[in-house]
Amino acid sequence: MDQPGVEVRPIIGLAGDHEVNEVFLDDVTAPLDNLVGEEGQGWTIAKFLLENERGGACHAPKLLSDLAKLRKAAENQPDGRGGSMADDVLYMTRLAHVELEAQALEMTELRVLAEMAKGLPPGPQTSLSKMVASTLRQQVDGLAVQLYGHTGLALETQRPLYGNESPAPLYDKEAQLAAPRYLNSRAWTIFGGTNEIQRTIIAKTVLGL
Ligand SMILES: Cc1cc2nc3c(=O)[nH]c(=O)nc-3n(C[C@H](O)[C@H](O)[C@H](O)COP(=O)(O)OP(=O)(O)OC[C@H]3O[C@@H](n4cnc5c(N)ncnc54)[C@H](O)[C@@H]3O)c2cc1C
Repeated sequence: MDQPGVEVRPIIGLAGDHEVNEVFLDDVTAPLDNLVGEEGQGWTIAKFLLENERGGACHAPKLLSDLAKLRKAAENQPDGRGGSMADDVLYMTRLAHVELEAQALEMTELRVLAEMAKGLPPGPQTSLSKMVASTLRQQVDGLAVQLYGHTGLALETQRPLYGNESPAPLYDKEAQLAAPRYLNSRAWTIFGGTNEIQRTIIAKTVLGL
């Protein structure tokens, strides 16, 4: 990264934060010692890396814990009709639906983990968990924005959002985080390969179509 020709240009994300960069390589050379595998194997190695990127983490535990927090928070959020959001049948049905999907994802992730425990690679089925996890992440963050109503719509652009130096929330910390999280999670169905690309991988390598 330090050698001449490597240029890093920041990209400011939708939520106003700097999380990613564009990296330009202009006549950059790498010493032979740094060659990974054999020359010409680049795409095979990249695919192995992506398989592990997609399947290298279990997403269901975080999704389920965020859903449990929303379920609890719903008890204290007014529904605008004198009750709480926990009494809002439409909202709670939507939350329960996403929760069931997250539980199903957990089973798939446990199956992949069991394969990996036997020493097998995570395999192309990680495309399935990455795609489902990405879609659920966006749905959970959508549920948060819906739960917090207008207090969840205010976009906090000051950073950091966590820790001692974070801005004081106007209403509630979770409400303050709702909009930036919602905007940030649009990237889930893009990074590591878009949902369309995952579907192609599933069709070709998992279903053999
Ligand atoms: C927040 C964030 C972090 C990222 N982090 C990294 C990182 O750390 N390292 C890294 O290397 N990259 C990273 N990326 C880049 C990411 O991997 C790519 O943006 C992603 O793979 C999509 O590729 P692309 O941008 O070239 O889109 P394109 O491939 O140009 O796709 C554009 C659109 O066309 C669709 N499309 C493309 N091909 C097909 C097809 N064959 N069939 C159907 N539809 C198709 C796509 O689904 C998409 O909707 C990151 C991206 C984001 C947003």
